[in-house]
Amino acid sequence: MNRQLRVAVIGAGPAGIYASDILTKSEVDVRVDIIERDPTPFGLIRYGVAPDHPRIKEIIKALRRVLSHDDIRFIGNVNYGSDLKFDDLRLFYDAVVFATGASKDRELDLPGIDLHGSYGAADFVSWYDGHPEAPRDWDFQPHAEQVAVLGVGNVGLDVARILAKTADELRVTEIADNVYDGLRTNVAKDIHVFARRGPAQVKFTPMELRELSHSPNIDVVVHPEGFELDEGSMEAIRGSKSVKLVVDVLQNYLAKEETGAAHRIHIHFCQNPVEILGEDGRVTGLRTEVTELDGTGNVRGTGEFIDWPVQAVYRAIGYYSDNLAGLPFDLKDGVVPNDGGRVIDIDGDAVPGAYVTGWIKRGPVGLIGHTKSDAAHTIDLLLSDVDSLVAPSLPQLEAVDAYLDQRGIEFTTWAGWEKLDAHEIALGEAVGRERIKVVPRDTMVSISRS
Ligand code: NAP
Repeated sequence: MNRQLRVAVIGAGPAGIYASDILTKSEVDVRVDIIERDPTPFGLIRYGVAPDHPRIKEIIKALRRVLSHDDIRFIGNVNYGSDLKFDDLRLFYDAVVFATGASKDRELDLPGIDLHGSYGAADFVSWYDGHPEAPRDWDFQPHAEQVAVLGVGNVGLDVARILAKTADELRVTEIADNVYDGLRTNVAKDIHVFARRGPAQVKFTPMELRELSHSPNIDVVVHPEGFELDEGSMEAIRGSKSVKLVVDVLQNYLAKEETGAAHRIHIHFCQNPVEILGEDGRVTGLRTEVTELDGTGNVRGTGEFIDWPVQAVYRAIGYYSDNLAGLPFDLKDGVVPNDGGRVIDIDGDAVPGAYVTGWIKRGPVGLIGHTKSDAAHTIDLLLSDVDSLVAPSLPQLEAVDAYLDQRGIEFTTWAGWEKLDAHEIALGEAVGRERIKVVPRDTMVSISRS
């Protein structure tokens, strides 16, 4: 190609930033605009990673280096679908890479799911991470000392840990003041995490599971009922170091005496949630069916039911993506249909100039690092298509800015993020903390654009 390639990446989370990095390191002369709905960059790292996981947030340092690259622009506070549609983007760019992730809760069709005190983990995470679209207050139930968490992935662990820690333990992190005030009203003492299968089938990662015991305020209690390993489980343990490590950690917890800590995280196996129980519109319990392993690592119901007296239920059974205006969407898996990253329509034909990477491409599984190889694959395909891409009619950088300005869209930039970043750090420094997040969108935008 003998002209400069213009690419829009939609979403400034790790998936979009890795894709931009790979593109700008390629042989091709390219300018990338990363267009983001939030006024801030870093997506899941800012609004999905738990505040007490500063080690994971360190990834921001590497992402920051990418975003400061001269060939990459950050354009925040712009909503794909309303502020800019696919056809608008085609005016400015040869190709669009969608990296919009998954930030909603996957639906769970259980009787009682709409009771007061039944929550989705994604909503809770958005609240404690201070997402501008999340409600400012979290409605902790006043008597919810016993709480259930459904699902044994790392999000379930995050939710259980945040519920079990004290507000003061979390104060040292970057949480906003409204989140600290909200956490002080949380009275949870026993957090019951339910796995519908056995210990070798949990989706926890070993480090995150071990970390639960690092708080002096938390005892981890693994219950022996259902702690079984069938042939399928043994195969999984033999086949994966991570599964083996997780089962070892669970076994250590199982053997451990309680220390008398004020809060307990209980892990129960082979309990399939079947109903959330309620009275006067509020959660009063969770009914599970006891399951048994069937030899393959899957389970069957036993017909025995247990009612657990809990006053709140958090479901952490996986995320789900928003569909993207103008593109096909696979409702079952919550992804944009694609062939290795090339978006395809209902007939399986490639949608010219449209690519996907990250969770919107392959569903909401995998650690942040996994999105790198995913992005590499998508960008390889994009680069192999370069000669067939339709040149945009307005490839100049200023054309996008002018288009947004004309529509009164108050977009933010990388320089704007640097201002907001300095502001948040200064807020933290004033009270001996590393950072305090600004939550309201309009405040973030006005600081960024000041
Ligand atoms: P996940 O790892 O897929 O876990 C979802 C859990 O929900 C599984 O245990 C699953 O059980 C269970 N589940 C699904 N449907 C259910 C139902 N109807 N009833 C009961 N249980 C049900 O998803 P996630 O926790 O949302 O995590 C998403 C990704 O982000 C993962 O790759 C995770 O490692 C990563 N992450 C990492 C961190 C970190 O700190 N490193 C933090 C958060 C997230 P089955 O297996 O039986 O289906």
